Amino acid sequence: MEKSAPHLTLAKQYWRAHLKPGDIAIDATCGNGHDTLYLSQLILSDPSSAVFAFDIQPEAILSAETLLKKHLSPDHFRRVLLNRRTHLELNAVPLPYSPRLIVYNLGYLPGGNKQVTTKTDTTLESIKLSLELLADDGAISVMCYPGHGEGAKEEKALVDMASHMSSQDWTVCHHKWINRPNSPTFLWLAKAS
Ligand code: SAM
Repeated sequence: MEKSAPHLTLAKQYWRAHLKPGDIAIDATCGNGHDTLYLSQLILSDPSSAVFAFDIQPEAILSAETLLKKHLSPDHFRRVLLNRRTHLELNAVPLPYSPRLIVYNLGYLPGGNKQVTTKTDTTLESIKLSLELLADDGAISVMCYPGHGEGAKEEKALVDMASHMSSQDWTVCHHKWINRPNSPTFLWLAKAS
């Protein structure tokens, strides 16, 4: 069996501990759909749950659709809403109620065009929208890739923003694997209860 990268394993542990059936989740960078699928499997057993996924690339949406159709029942697949639009438009899509989790897996589409990558300014803007959209006990998960130029800039800007969030209102942590410089890192922003 393929060994999952540590940042993905850790992120999934957080998602599993946080989400419950009945929740709404958003995948703000759905890519090939692996994270969307995992989120779907965690919550869609409850018929009121739905997953909303966003990506700007048609090939990403197509690839995600193929993966989801293969692994989900038709009823569950119907409740995964794939949006070929930027995550700057997260608030343009009507949601039945506030999402409890919004995930970002930054960078470029694996196997795709490396020039089409998430960008610091738009990612920050989108995360600000997410902070507004979240349910009262919601959380935002971000996987950062400082191993490439834009990714390093993006991570720095996000960590800077997150470290200034009110500690009364937010629980914030940043996990990095300190004996592996430039390896992916994981940021978790949870509304403090
Ligand atoms: N979560 C994916 C998976 O499980 O396969 C991997 C995501 S991949 C690392 C990052 C994705 O972000 C790419 O597919 C890219 O097209 C997408 N992306 C880049 N800019 C975006 C934007 N402004 N809005 C939404 N998606 C964007």
